[in-house]
Amino acid sequence: MQDMAEQILAGNRRALARAITLVESGRADHRAQALELLETLRGHDRQALRIGLSGTPGVGKSTFIEAFGCFLTGQGLKVAVLAVDPSSARSGGSILGDKTRMERLTRDKNAFIRPSPSQSQLGGVARRTREAIDLCEAAGFDVILIETVGVGQSETMVAEMSDLFLLLLAPAGGDELQGVKRGIMEMADILLINKADGDLKTTAIRTCADYAGALRLLRKRPQDPEGFPKALTVSAIEENGLEKVWGEMTALNDWRQENGHFEARRAAQARFWFEAEVRERLLARLTREPVKGAMRALAGQVEDGRLTPSAAAEELLREHLLME
Ligand code: GDP
Repeated sequence: MQDMAEQILAGNRRALARAITLVESGRADHRAQALELLETLRGHDRQALRIGLSGTPGVGKSTFIEAFGCFLTGQGLKVAVLAVDPSSARSGGSILGDKTRMERLTRDKNAFIRPSPSQSQLGGVARRTREAIDLCEAAGFDVILIETVGVGQSETMVAEMSDLFLLLLAPAGGDELQGVKRGIMEMADILLINKADGDLKTTAIRTCADYAGALRLLRKRPQDPEGFPKALTVSAIEENGLEKVWGEMTALNDWRQENGHFEARRAAQARFWFEAEVRERLLARLTREPVKGAMRALAGQVEDGRLTPSAAAEELLREHLLME
């Protein structure tokens, strides 16, 4: 693991890819190695900007990431792209599995694209993504883009592992604010109205103004300077607005760095994930032997009226989960 750690720190991509495969593995011996590797890498002083990006299918996420990723590498930055796709477990595929979606970025030697692993539970996906982020950071990437499809809990999860969270939206006609949930608006730092080109340009500008209005109604967050969160238009296809987006992102990030909010956010996230993992692993034990069997047996006694539900719960927790 020492060797692998050194290769990762030296920026060796094959080592990085192997390490990500290791953290994605469900095997117990791999898990032990992964923990050792992550522990060995801890304490380096590299810091990437972690950018979460969400949006419904078809809104232009991969087109945007391709354009924005190339823009960033053009600035001399090293960019890693990770994906969180909760549906990939079902489909067996992954949103970035088809790398032709980001052909240019895939060929760029300053970019690293990693498809989303197929996983059954969101908790597992979260842990693997967090660990992949840590590995990319150790490997010296400047920016890590974490893409997710805008469904369910995956957005919250990605927001909880990002320094900045972007929501990509499509131009919309009329007064529908596309049913974007308030909670998601509140998580976003920047709303990007994509497809501001051709026939859609006018609509995109109007949609952007509508969102800007909606954002002004949200309560001000202490971690934001004046004017944030904000809405911007962009055209991923024409590669318009990328410089402006990057300018706003760095302005926000610089402000947070200078005012202690960057560190505070990362600390809160670390705590959040620690607590989430404890909860999740305790719950997982209930579904495995021997606890599962003990639970079944006690449930039988509760059904027969031999034990009260409370007494049975007490016994299970005391005997099998080492609790008082
Ligand atoms: P994803 O599902 O969110 O990853 O969306 P894609 O990047 O695959 O894009 C979905 C469709 O929208 C494709 O046909 C793209 O060509 C198109 N698209 C993406 N970005 C833009 C844009 O900036 N302008 C226009 N007009 N179309 C776009």
